[in-house]
Amino acid sequence: MEGRMTRRMLIAGNWKMNGLRQSLVFMEEIRDVANSRADLDILVAPPATLIERAARIAGPVKIAGQDCHTEQSGAHTGDISADMLKDAGASHVILGHSERRADHNEHSAMVRAKALSALSAGLIPVICVGESEAERRAGTAELVVGQQLADSLPDRSGYVIAYEPVWAIGTGLTASLDDIAAMHGFIRSKVPGGSDVQLLYGGSVKPENASGILSIGDVDGALVGGASLEAASFAAIIEAAPIRFAS
Ligand code: PEP
Repeated sequence: MEGRMTRRMLIAGNWKMNGLRQSLVFMEEIRDVANSRADLDILVAPPATLIERAARIAGPVKIAGQDCHTEQSGAHTGDISADMLKDAGASHVILGHSERRADHNEHSAMVRAKALSALSAGLIPVICVGESEAERRAGTAELVVGQQLADSLPDRSGYVIAYEPVWAIGTGLTASLDDIAAMHGFIRSKVPGGSDVQLLYGGSVKPENASGILSIGDVDGALVGGASLEAASFAAIIEAAPIRFAS
């Protein structure tokens, strides 16, 4: 698609609710990989407790939060604001992940409000969308994802989108290359300025399937869960990303 070569690849690891202080040795290993792949962006989303420490040793690796509140401060016990993530050293925040949509009842309007909050704090939101297995079987995947985009995306630029079919997350199942290409093309066609938006695929990305997925023209990177918990497998996924243009 036109404009493709202007989009950098982004490989993002989502640690979810995993990781203690000793896990940060991972950052040192990934920092070395990042130094050898300056053509792409590498992002790690550790649990909130590790963000500040991770950011201090990250080098060129960028750090993300896994969620933020819609407000920047206030009486919201247990929540974290975009300003706080930025202050701790994050550059991005994952929003609307299907686990948050399911576990915390987050709906798309809330995701949009969080995205606006993130943008105003100077963070890049990574906005997740994706259909369930039943929705794909029913042939409504594009309808569902189209609605999620319409309701979740802020009316400002500066976000990243991650297409994550819910049935592929943490299951070992991945969408076929044809289905990924078709959905990414669809998403790009629906998003304002779509040819410039970084568009990631997520759902059981592993070293064995990364090269095929990351070679699809409309795929600008991956959001990786399980395989981002070990430096060796995350590094192998990074290495599988094609070099789009010299750094
Ligand atoms: C995710 O958590 O966003 C994800 C894609 O997980 P996994 O790679 O484990 O499927």
